Amino acid sequence: MKLPLAALALTACTASVSRPATAPTAAAPGDAAAPPPIAAPEPPAPPRPPAPPPTAITVEYLAVADAWAITWTVGRPAAALRFDRALAAPRGAAWRTSAELAWRRDGDADLLVAVDGQPRQAFTAVMPSDDASPTRLPPNVVRWSDGSRLVFTGAIGGDAAVCVQDRCGPVAGPRRWTVRAAGLRVARGPGDAGEQLAWDEPDGDRRGAYVYVGRGRVDARGEVATIVDGGLPPWLAALTATLVPATVADLTARTGLPLGFVPTVLVSLRPSGGGRPGYAVRGRTVTGQVQLEAGGAGWRGRSTARARLWRELVVHELFHLWNSQVAARADVRDEWLSEGASSFVAGTALVDAGLLDATRWGRRVVAAANRCARSLRGPLYDRAADPSYYDCGEVVHVALDRALAARGGLWPVYARLFADARARPSGAYATADFLALCDGAGADPAIVAAVRAILDRGLGADPQATLRALLADAGIATSVVPGRRGRPSRLRWQPSPRPRAGGSVRP
Ligand SMILES: [Zn+2]
Repeated sequence: MKLPLAALALTACTASVSRPATAPTAAAPGDAAAPPPIAAPEPPAPPRPPAPPPTAITVEYLAVADAWAITWTVGRPAAALRFDRALAAPRGAAWRTSAELAWRRDGDADLLVAVDGQPRQAFTAVMPSDDASPTRLPPNVVRWSDGSRLVFTGAIGGDAAVCVQDRCGPVAGPRRWTVRAAGLRVARGPGDAGEQLAWDEPDGDRRGAYVYVGRGRVDARGEVATIVDGGLPPWLAALTATLVPATVADLTARTGLPLGFVPTVLVSLRPSGGGRPGYAVRGRTVTGQVQLEAGGAGWRGRSTARARLWRELVVHELFHLWNSQVAARADVRDEWLSEGASSFVAGTALVDAGLLDATRWGRRVVAAANRCARSLRGPLYDRAADPSYYDCGEVVHVALDRALAARGGLWPVYARLFADARARPSGAYATADFLALCDGAGADPAIVAAVRAILDRGLGADPQATLRALLADAGIATSVVPGRRGRPSRLRWQPSPRPRAGGSVRP
């Protein structure tokens, strides 16, 4: 997603691609008259053929050109390399290759093909440090204000596409990575950083992660490692240094689940581009890593609004370590759940930190409901609803938290959801598991039914009325502000005469 530098409240993130699950993880809800099940069973995967010889991927950072010389040496000769378009921003346009190679697009793949069609052992290309991403997918490279770079292995990890008889396709074997940067440090986790880093990647997980190249140091203390852009404003660096470990500790305590690994948090200031005004954030969670970026000249000075936005980003992204890595999503459609949960938990963290009072929190939820009413068309449990996952997801989580007000809110449900997922071979949870736990915990049946309807069918003929009713059931009162001068009508938060007790936040 592009960075709107003047935006005041953007938490744009991607929490790594869902790991596929091979089996349903909860019974389908409801009876014969109920909506269709949210998670359908999938047949077990067929047995896998033996892994082919490894592919060696060597990446050399060319500091003067700010580019990356990449060589792929495949285990068996291939006429093409295949790159998954679902993993990263598109490749190709600005990458330089020899005249013997060319980029082609093939469905869900970018292909680097031998023009003469003859299988070959080695492919080479030079990739510029391009940090654009037209979608929520990670850019090929993230640029830091101190000159450091993050290169995303999901962008440059290619697999040999081989043809057996007349059937051609990728062969995802193990990969051996080597990243070199003369005179700089290369790091991808809490370990030592030197000019060269090499590691083996198994064939089962292609989601990718960042490799850091620069002069910064890995600060590995306790439960989390960080690398911080030397150009980050001092107040923001100081806030991050305390906030990140404190948030990891808090989320561990609330879920009762230690991460089981030391995550690496990569924190940067986007190069200024002429010192554009305003301030915005961008972040994402990938395998074992959280990337946080501040953008805009506004970050130079501290303010409560900026501290609030930064804390929201930190908590939102760090909670993805639990809701997409400690426990994985069973299906890409379950992303409404992980984004909604991260947005909800980040909002409540602002209340806990004293950065939002009850009035501001209520207005935040109602603003999310207004955006949800404008954006969601069709079921929320649908890939097409992706732009609504954050706002509609947060409203749904607020409502369910209130539906569990007498049972301690949603935290015990999250804890059980992730623990159950971790106990399964798939490591995954589905939306149906989440709703079953809400039911089992004694959630208000009317609210759960309303949530199921939004997930299965959407907001109906009058989205605003549907959300207004859901908020009212959750104890959040609103009035309708009529539309004028071409602007649509919207909901406005009202002080509630009788807020529900309990839950995670008092409205
Ligand atoms: Zn997110």
